[in-house]
Amino acid sequence: MATLYLHVPFCKRICSYCDFYKVGAIELLPKVVSMMHREMAERADYLEHRELSSIYFGGGTPSLLRPEDIESLIQSAASLFDISGVREITLEANPDDLTQEYVQALSHTPINRVSLGIQSFDDRVLKFMNRRHTAEEAIKAVERLRKGGINNISIDLIFGVSGFEGDHLGESLSEATQLGVEHISAYHLTIEERTRLGLLTRKGEYTPLSDEESEQEFLRVHHVLTQAGYDHYEVSNFARPGHQAVHNSAYWRGVEYLGIGAGAHSFSRDNRTWCISSAKEYSEGKFRYEDEHLTPIDHLNEYVMVSLRTERGIDLNYIAQNYGIEHQERIAQSLGAWISSGAVVREGSIARIPADKFLISDAVIESLFA
Ligand code: SF4
Repeated sequence: MATLYLHVPFCKRICSYCDFYKVGAIELLPKVVSMMHREMAERADYLEHRELSSIYFGGGTPSLLRPEDIESLIQSAASLFDISGVREITLEANPDDLTQEYVQALSHTPINRVSLGIQSFDDRVLKFMNRRHTAEEAIKAVERLRKGGINNISIDLIFGVSGFEGDHLGESLSEATQLGVEHISAYHLTIEERTRLGLLTRKGEYTPLSDEESEQEFLRVHHVLTQAGYDHYEVSNFARPGHQAVHNSAYWRGVEYLGIGAGAHSFSRDNRTWCISSAKEYSEGKFRYEDEHLTPIDHLNEYVMVSLRTERGIDLNYIAQNYGIEHQERIAQSLGAWISSGAVVREGSIARIPADKFLISDAVIESLFA
C-alpha cells in the first residue's frame, strides 16, 4: 500500500506563526491544478505499489480548490492507481471557506474526512494568530459538515499561547469536546524566526511560556482529551476509537508516499524527493526536484523517531531482524536509564513512551540514534 498527498500552497492571509511555504497569488491556482494532473501522471511510477490506502489534500489552504477540481484530481488518481482500498480521503480546510454551498458541493465528491484549522475557540487568540475565521464560524463549519454528511472531522488546536487573560485553553478544549469531533491535533505554538510572531518576540512584545508552563499545558491537553474519550496515540494527535488518521498513521509506519505539488515531499524505497519549484514555476510546468538517498542507518533512525512518537513504540525484535543485532543491543542498553526513570516502558520486545511523557520524546529519540 502507498498514500498520495496533494499540496495546495496558497493562502489568502498569512498566520502570524506560520513559516510553511505558501503564496498569496491565488490567480495561479487554476494553472497549478492542471499541472498537478500532469505531475501525477508523470510521477505515478515513483511508487513501488500502485494500491493506495489514503489520499490527502494538504496545504496551504486546499479548501481554496473548487469541489470540481477536488473531484477531478481524485479521478486522475483513480486512473493511475488502484484506489479500491482507499479508506480515507481528507481535505484540510479553513472554517471560513466552508460555506453552506461549498459543503453541499463537497458532499458530492469522494472526500470523507475534513481536517479543520480551527486553532482556538477564542476570538482574541484567533486575531493574534491572524486567522481568517472567528470561533462562531468554526462552530458553524463543523455543524455544516455534519449536515452535509461528513462524519469524520478532525480539528487542529494550538496550545502554549501566552498573554491572554482568562482560561482560553480550557474553553477551547471544552468547545472541541462538546462538538464531538472524531479527531483532534493539538500543537504547541512554536516561534519561528521568519514570522510575525518571531519579530514580536525579538522586539519583546510577545513573551513565550516557560518550559514548566508549556509542560503544564501539554499535560492539561492530555488529561482533558483522554478523559473525554480520546486516545492520545501520537505526540500531537488524539482520536476517538476507530478514528486514528489513516494517512498520517501510514507516514508513521514508514509506508511510501507520493507528494504532488510545489513543495510536496515523496518517499519510496531508499529515496526521499521534494519538489522545489515555486508555485509560479510549477504553474508553468517547470518541475524541479531535489532528492536524497536513504541509507539503512537513515531508515533505522527514521523508524525509531516516528515509532517512539506514537503509542506503538519500537519493536526491538524488528530492529534486530532488519538492522542487525548490534543495533538492537545498543538501543536496548541506551533505553535502560529511560526505563528506570519511567520515561519509557518495556513490554517484551516493545519499548514505548507513555502518552503523558510524550513531551520528552525528542530527548529519548536523540539518545537512541545511530
Ligand atoms: S492557513 Fe495554514 S499554511 Fe496558510 S498561513 Fe495559516 S497556518 Fe500557514
